[in-house]
Amino acid sequence: MTAHVDVLVVGAGPSGLTLGVDLARRGVRALVVERADGLFPGSRGKGIQPRTMEVFDDLGILGAIRAAGGGYPVGMLWRDGRRLGEHRMFDPVEPTEEAPYDEPWMVAQWRTQEILRERLEELGGRIAFGREAIGLTQDADGVTVRFADGSGLRARYVVAADGGRSAVRRALGIGMTGETLEANPTLVADVRLTGLDRDNWHMFPPSGEGEDFLALCPLAGTDDFQMVARFPEGATVDPSPEGVRALVAARTHLTAEDVTEVRWASDFRPRTALADRFRDGRVLLAGDAAHLHSPAGGQGLNTSVQDAYNLGWKLDAVLRGAAPASLLDTYEEERRPVAADMLGLSTSIHRGETRRGDATRQLSLGYRTSSLAEETRQAPGPLRAGDRAPDGRLGETRLFDAFRGPHWTLLTVDAAAHLTAYGEGVFLVRPDGYVGWAGDTTEGLAAYARRVGAEGVYRAVEAAGATRS
Ligand SMILES: Cc1cc2nc3c(=O)[nH]c(=O)nc-3n(C[C@H](O)[C@H](O)[C@H](O)COP(=O)(O)OP(=O)(O)OC[C@H]3O[C@@H](n4cnc5c(N)ncnc54)[C@H](O)[C@@H]3O)c2cc1C
Repeated sequence: MTAHVDVLVVGAGPSGLTLGVDLARRGVRALVVERADGLFPGSRGKGIQPRTMEVFDDLGILGAIRAAGGGYPVGMLWRDGRRLGEHRMFDPVEPTEEAPYDEPWMVAQWRTQEILRERLEELGGRIAFGREAIGLTQDADGVTVRFADGSGLRARYVVAADGGRSAVRRALGIGMTGETLEANPTLVADVRLTGLDRDNWHMFPPSGEGEDFLALCPLAGTDDFQMVARFPEGATVDPSPEGVRALVAARTHLTAEDVTEVRWASDFRPRTALADRFRDGRVLLAGDAAHLHSPAGGQGLNTSVQDAYNLGWKLDAVLRGAAPASLLDTYEEERRPVAADMLGLSTSIHRGETRRGDATRQLSLGYRTSSLAEETRQAPGPLRAGDRAPDGRLGETRLFDAFRGPHWTLLTVDAAAHLTAYGEGVFLVRPDGYVGWAGDTTEGLAAYARRVGAEGVYRAVEAAGATRS
């Protein structure tokens, strides 16, 4: 075998890159392998939800993500070259001290991926392009992955972040349960054009027989528009530049010549599906390899990033020997129900039954029922172990500043702290920003810290106990 790493991440999409960044900042020996010769060039997953903004803040790329994008423009409905009126995709939300990122932030997916790649390389992480995983075998000590070029690589753990058609998931024989949401094909393309302002998301409802919906969204931070067009069932989709130009001319008041460039185009049928398992031995599934969403509601990329964020610290703790390998069981325990909920939500938005709103922002997601959530207070307040740890101020310190980084954070909140979102108590905040343990005192905390690999917390609590006794 030519090489050996602790974690091999298959796929350099949003899931694989996020995990790569998290592992690199923890000093884990990891490698990201990618089948293509470069990163994915399209804008498709362009909506970064507030919870993902918090993750990106923690990973040190919030400034770059902010600079690369912008807020969502208001929709504008058109008919025969006339503006019919505005259409709002979601109701405006004000930032609060507990949730400082309010609305989805628009960044073209290719740009988000570039930013993650820059961060990965800055932290000393590596991506090997042009390496397609085609099979694997695993034993008690590790996994051997085979590549299309005939090479192989041995890793202690493998994460399949290789997208909806995941070769790794197939090699493991893990099924995907779901359905195609519509027989109608959809075409998505990145185009440059003249004749439309960049202040609105331009929407062109069908105006005749054999037509369907087309929308042109100005992509913040670029000169491009993202075109999404639905086709009637059975229609033939032409993703060539000529096909895209002809489509825009047929469905809008623009001419084919107004489309000056077609930078990327692809067609798909919206699907919803969930992997039957997220783990097989030393191999874990993350992102689209584990769950496929309708693009409606903008949940796919976000749920994928958060899979990676849940997994990074657990892999690190197990690899360091700080926590038992069973900690990795909590990845599927925590993430599969969240993915199932998010699939239900995006399918419901797709069918027009639910509007984008609080749930799509992903701030209320949590792990209260997880075996990692220990709530030991006599009379807990609204915030419980397992919940997302909100931002706020404790004295001079902003909590998100204290949380930023790969560590656990221990908070003691008394009545004088005025941290109403938390209530009173002792809170141990996980590296991925959820309350792991909550108590009236630190009694029982050391045992929890030991179980989850929070060595620093364990030592500090033990030392404090020794000092007292
Ligand atoms: C039209 C459209 C709009 C969308 N809009 C949104 C949105 O607004 N918000 C949102 O959250 N999501 C959105 N999504 C979904 C989002 O794009 C995906 O959920 C996201 O890309 C998943 O990331 P991933 O890293 O898991 O997989 P992918 O992005 O698919 O990345 C997988 C990577 O693995 C590589 N790979 C594949 N096989 C192998 C192999 N055998 N060996 C090595 N490498 C391999 C691929 O080349 C690819 O780079 C949208 C999707 C579409 C189609």
